[in-house]
Amino acid sequence: MDLNTIDTLVRPAVRRDLPAPARGDAFLAGGTWLFSEPQRDLVRLIDLPSLGWIPIAQEPDRLVLAATCTLAGLDAWAADAGWAAADMVRRCCRALWGSFKICNAATIGGNLCLALPAAPMAALTIALEATCVVWSGLETDRIPADRFILGPQRTCLAPGAVLRQIEVPSALLSARFALRQASLTVEGRSAALLIGRLDRDGFALAITASVPRPLSLRFDRLPDGAALRAAIEAASAADGWYDDMHGAPDWRRHMTVRLAGEILAELAA
Ligand SMILES: Cc1cc2nc3c(=O)[nH]c(=O)nc-3n(C[C@H](O)[C@H](O)[C@H](O)COP(=O)(O)OP(=O)(O)OC[C@H]3O[C@@H](n4cnc5c(N)ncnc54)[C@H](O)[C@@H]3O)c2cc1C
Repeated sequence: MDLNTIDTLVRPAVRRDLPAPARGDAFLAGGTWLFSEPQRDLVRLIDLPSLGWIPIAQEPDRLVLAATCTLAGLDAWAADAGWAAADMVRRCCRALWGSFKICNAATIGGNLCLALPAAPMAALTIALEATCVVWSGLETDRIPADRFILGPQRTCLAPGAVLRQIEVPSALLSARFALRQASLTVEGRSAALLIGRLDRDGFALAITASVPRPLSLRFDRLPDGAALRAAIEAASAADGWYDDMHGAPDWRRHMTVRLAGEILAELAA
């Protein structure tokens, strides 16, 4: 859709070209959400792909994903990656409720910064204990992925702050993962998206889509079903279960507990 309130497009080439924040600004990444609905308050777009960030860099101790890396690009790259996490990564890249046109343009950073409960990059980055690297002017902050999203379409980013990259510790790429997703319709928007991880530090579970903000649970070892259920109920007590046209809260709660049990069984096997 045309955004006919926009009067300026800024195309920065390097960090110092990023303009001081102003009312009516938005960063433009893949544009799949920005151009999908009216944005009457916006007057200026700041293009992020023009910064030319390298999409994916595998370093000895970490994997660095530029915020502008597309979901399709990560999916294709993971196909040849050869680590244990690759299948889980690829499934997250395909967990968007959109056609291939959306997936080809949507970026990891756009998905995280839009912060829909069904954001598959939230589940992915939490499961991988990633760190979000944020530029605020000339300051650089490092925020754990499980603290980045605060609620539906709400992140910890201050006005004008830009998500630069996501860093994943290499060691976690060889952990064991189990992913479960539930939607009301085949290939519909996620109503629950959970990822379990088992490694030598224990068991971790990322719960997204069924809750307003992602939950991250950790255990020293695989818990039994009752302990896991109790932990889920305790963690969800503060914000409750998400409610929208993609699933009622009681159904999401039921599916979350059920899918968590399936993840436990898969990783215990
Ligand atoms: C048909 C359809 C289906 C969809 N299904 C889903 C779905 O199932 N799950 C889901 O989560 N989303 C869904 N979306 C929404 C959206 O397409 C995705 O979330 C997508 O990943 C957004 O990425 P983008 O790069 O296109 O972001 P943009 O549209 O470019 O930007 C999204 C928002 O994030 C901000 N932003 C982008 N990058 C940065 C950055 N690096 N730093 C700071 N702010 C930034 C932008 O200013 C904007 O506010 C859907 C959209 C459509 C049209």
